[in-house]
Amino acid sequence: MEPILGTERYERLTELRAAVRRYEERYGKLEGMVDLTKARSAMKSRQRRYDQLVEEFDRVRRQKESMESEIDRIEQWIEFCLESIIEKAKEDHAEGWSPTAVLGYRLWAVGKDGLHGVKMRWPGPVLEATCLSRGGDSEIPHTDGRCGRLGCGVYASKTVEPLYREFDVSRIGDVALGLVALTGKVVEHDDGYRGAVATVVALGASLGDRLLLTSDSKCIEAVFEQPAPWIVKERRVETETERLLEMEAFVTSEARRAGQWTLETNSE
Ligand SMILES: [Zn+2]
Repeated sequence: MEPILGTERYERLTELRAAVRRYEERYGKLEGMVDLTKARSAMKSRQRRYDQLVEEFDRVRRQKESMESEIDRIEQWIEFCLESIIEKAKEDHAEGWSPTAVLGYRLWAVGKDGLHGVKMRWPGPVLEATCLSRGGDSEIPHTDGRCGRLGCGVYASKTVEPLYREFDVSRIGDVALGLVALTGKVVEHDDGYRGAVATVVALGASLGDRLLLTSDSKCIEAVFEQPAPWIVKERRVETETERLLEMEAFVTSEARRAGQWTLETNSE
């Protein structure tokens, strides 16, 4: 018999049995051996049942493992089905998570404390859309009209032109014009897009008669943090029209450059 509950008592019992044998050799049959025989047969039946249980336990463990791997395969399949359903819905409703960034244009008013959009000061060159209506953040921008006719999301214009129709530039004062990359869910409109996240990738910013043009991310970040010190170091451009035209030429050429770059990476 192999020890089941550890070796210490098993060794002790072996010792005792050897001692009983020695005494029997010396003195003949000892008393009390009947109880010992009963105990031995009780132990044997337990031992058999125990071995059966160990076998059953192994079988149950193997079944459990095979069930786990089946559940894993079914979960993968469910994941695939859910993704396909969502992809299909996105295709059918012409909205989607853009695999590459969608480029658009934005205007800001240059203030002492930063760059201001229509609704708010931008916290930095990256703005994440929020929505006051209920619904998971992954659905922003919403397309079911729950948050008004225009809907939530960061707006960007496809060309610069519509921005001038929408904003009276002469009343803004000091103007900044930027190229933004929309990422995450992007919804297309006639003149522009609404995106989940917008990142400014090129910026023209004016302050008085000074004009700054940059596509350097560190510099863009600094201007959003505190515009004046950076813009006043730049060159003079006399009229507002000239400043606007230069900004426009700069951001549109940056957009063409970025467009070329995405085409190149896509064709690889
Ligand atoms: Zn919304």
